Amino acid sequence: MDEILIAEIESVEASFTLGGNWQQSLRGAVRSGRQLCRILGIDPRDVGDAAERDFPVFAPREFIARMEPGNPTDPLLLQVLATAREAEPGGVEDPVGDLHSLAVPGMLQKYAGRALVIASGACAIHCRYCFRRHFPYATAPPTAAVWQGWLERLRDDPNIDEVILSGGDPLALVDSQLGKLIDALGKVPTVRRLRIHTRFPVVIPWRVTDALLQILSDTEMSTFVVLHINHANELDRAVEVALERLRRTGATLLNQAVLLRGINDSAEAQVDLCRRLVNLQVIPYYLHQLDPVRGAMHFRVDDATARQILARMRESLPGYAVPRLVREIAGQGSKTPL
Ligand SMILES: *Cc1c(COP(=O)(O)O)cnc(C)c1O
Ligand code: SF4
Repeated sequence: MDEILIAEIESVEASFTLGGNWQQSLRGAVRSGRQLCRILGIDPRDVGDAAERDFPVFAPREFIARMEPGNPTDPLLLQVLATAREAEPGGVEDPVGDLHSLAVPGMLQKYAGRALVIASGACAIHCRYCFRRHFPYATAPPTAAVWQGWLERLRDDPNIDEVILSGGDPLALVDSQLGKLIDALGKVPTVRRLRIHTRFPVVIPWRVTDALLQILSDTEMSTFVVLHINHANELDRAVEVALERLRRTGATLLNQAVLLRGINDSAEAQVDLCRRLVNLQVIPYYLHQLDPVRGAMHFRVDDATARQILARMRESLPGYAVPRLVREIAGQGSKTPL
């Protein structure tokens, strides 16, 4: 690496070592579509006030900084701006049957060998297409009693060898809490792998604190961090540094994206994203067809188009850079390949 690049990385890194920066970013997040439009200098005509009451707008400044001012179809803006189109009919509250898969409060068990826990109901950002936008998070707060239920369940079922921290976003937990949870999970002898599904490193890169790196380095479980990045424009210099920091812990980095109409529904956008990801040693894992959640049906891409996009991706990318195109069907024993 050349010296200028090293100096740049060092100066960006200074923002990571101050552990509390990310909480300040959350406090300063933009919480209204009108304000977001004002910041970007775009017409607020499309803002959906009813949609915002249903699922509030929440976008940290770091993420907004990657949007193009004056562009009402910016692919990052469309992921967070509540619009009147959310009132269009169709979709359901619980499209993937989460509420039928609760093993104990806050723990979902759908697939063999894997248990998914709702580690936090909070997120770094509110994605308008979120399949858990109607999830009753209040029924599984991150309390000692709920965690105890998870640990008992894991001890009772030795077939579960992987725990997935999900949410919401598990990195919404502060490091001291997260460290305790991961430590307790690691003490269950049959749990060998830890998976963390998170959007924090891309939305607020400063969340990848030194304390978090220590926690991930210390655990004896094999660790996988599944990022959630939908468009190459989400990857800026600070995110690259955050990913590099995560990689240094020995964690395997994967990405999942959702195929979204008007945002990333072209072979060009997907190839660009996947190429950038593998250059950063992040393996594209899943490309999800949208879960039919109420309020997000306007983002749907039909299966024929999705298959065409994937075929064109195969023509341009190394095999390891092509994600699996899947859909989640309630009641199935795995994600369903298209
Ligand atoms: C998606 C999901 C998983 C993980 O599935 P993989 O195919 O292993 O990535 C596990 N549990 C639940 C409840 C899920 O929704
Ligand atoms: S970060 Fe994940 S859980 Fe949170 S709103 Fe976005 S898609 Fe949903």
